[in-house]
Amino acid sequence: MAVLKVRRYGDPTLRRRATPVGEITPDIRNLVADMVDTMYDEAGIGLAAPQIGMSLRLIVVADDETREARPLVNPEIVEQGGEATAEEGCLSIPGVFAQVTRAAWVRVEAKDLEGRPVSILGRGLKGRVLQHEMDHRGCTPPGVRTVVAATLNVLFYGTPEFSLPTLEALLRHHRVVAVVTQPDRPAHRGQRLTLPPVKQRAIKSGLPVLQPSRLREPGWP
Ligand code: ZN
Repeated sequence: MAVLKVRRYGDPTLRRRATPVGEITPDIRNLVADMVDTMYDEAGIGLAAPQIGMSLRLIVVADDETREARPLVNPEIVEQGGEATAEEGCLSIPGVFAQVTRAAWVRVEAKDLEGRPVSILGRGLKGRVLQHEMDHRGCTPPGVRTVVAATLNVLFYGTPEFSLPTLEALLRHHRVVAVVTQPDRPAHRGQRLTLPPVKQRAIKSGLPVLQPSRLREPGWP
């Protein structure tokens, strides 16, 4: 089991059409275990295979109450109703949220990892997560589409190397007004301070850099 790299907005895998899972092989079971680990590691409530670079119709969703992860193989919406608008985010575009209108409830049919048919009714958050994750099989979820279509003024929060591709994508499509990043830290031994990767990139583009000593300090929004 392993935590996998989540593909961020701008990665072509996210737009590739996902193909149905054929036989449920040990590789598929391992992939699901890794997806579950990755979802928990990213504090997510759902994850689709394309988000970790596999163009397959395979999702994991966390139960609202127990947080227990449930894999769904080749999920399809067979029934839906109502309409609900709520704020939605995506692990592939961290830190950005948009109001998205979706069906208020969906009935999804899929297979479990033993190949048995399962039918689940998703209302509220669960219904929303199911619809969002199923969008990842070849199209960008509406939440992401919405934020991509509009030019946003983005305040970017990030520090490490792995947040750079997201920052690059945002710089290409939106107006990044400033970055918020952790304070400079001393390098391994010497007394010299190293600049966080995000700060280095921000300086290159002449962006304002905010470095609160603690994000939760009073007066910091
Ligand atoms: Zn997503």
